[in-house]
Amino acid sequence: MLIQSITLFPEMFESITECGVTGRARKQNLWQFQAINPRQFADNKLGYIDGRPFGGGPGMILQAPPLQAAIDEAKKNSQGRNKVIYLSPQGALFNHQKAIELSQSDNLILLCGRYEGIDERLLQYSVDEEISMGDFVVSGGELPAMILMDAVLRFIPGVLGDIQSAEQDSFSDGLLDCPHYTKPLEFQGMGVPDVLRSGNHALIAEWRLKQSLQRTLARRPDLLEKRSLIPKETRLLQEILAEQRKIQS
Ligand code: SAM
Repeated sequence: MLIQSITLFPEMFESITECGVTGRARKQNLWQFQAINPRQFADNKLGYIDGRPFGGGPGMILQAPPLQAAIDEAKKNSQGRNKVIYLSPQGALFNHQKAIELSQSDNLILLCGRYEGIDERLLQYSVDEEISMGDFVVSGGELPAMILMDAVLRFIPGVLGDIQSAEQDSFSDGLLDCPHYTKPLEFQGMGVPDVLRSGNHALIAEWRLKQSLQRTLARRPDLLEKRSLIPKETRLLQEILAEQRKIQS
């Protein structure tokens, strides 16, 4: 997969191209990265590519022509279909399903806004999709782009040392992940659940599933509403609800 980012701050992407599992995977050529700075397409020697908003108001707006030239350049670099994504607080909320969907693309072009945003005509003309990282505003699209990249790259075969990690993470089966423990055996007076040290794999799997159901019910009941349960999960959920009723009575 080739990911290209159109950004005024290419150096920000070094954290994802050089560090951690994504950095290792890039060095193994499991994915490639190219940053394109739209300043190189400015129509002035100083490299300004922003302008005051028509109609007045605060802040500056990124101009359409240099961004369009950067998108054209990115398209020249790639073979096959491209998807141009604008990271925007006004886009559709990013989630697990979208990360899986995008991991199947060969080419992604991530457009990072700055200042007050981007001339609307560029978005209408060249952007396939707008994606948001949440109902808040950050100063630029670079951090949202890197979050998207990290989440997408985890689904590229070979990027994670153990693909089971991604399969067991929260959301992969519609539930939150179970709690995890490692050494030492005791921390601040708290131990480790006995079952995890029992060596009984069937019991451990059932405990983990019950914990996942319990957490999802407590923290994200909306996920449970969307998901159909297999008989074993229904039984465990009934156990959880009965235990909760007992505590409350
Ligand atoms: N005026 C814009 C608005 O209210 O919709 C916000 C502009 S913001 C200061 C600058 C850039 O940061 C945006 O163009 C976008 O690329 C990025 N950005 C900010 N918040 C974001 C979010 N929640 N998700 C994705 N990108 C975001």
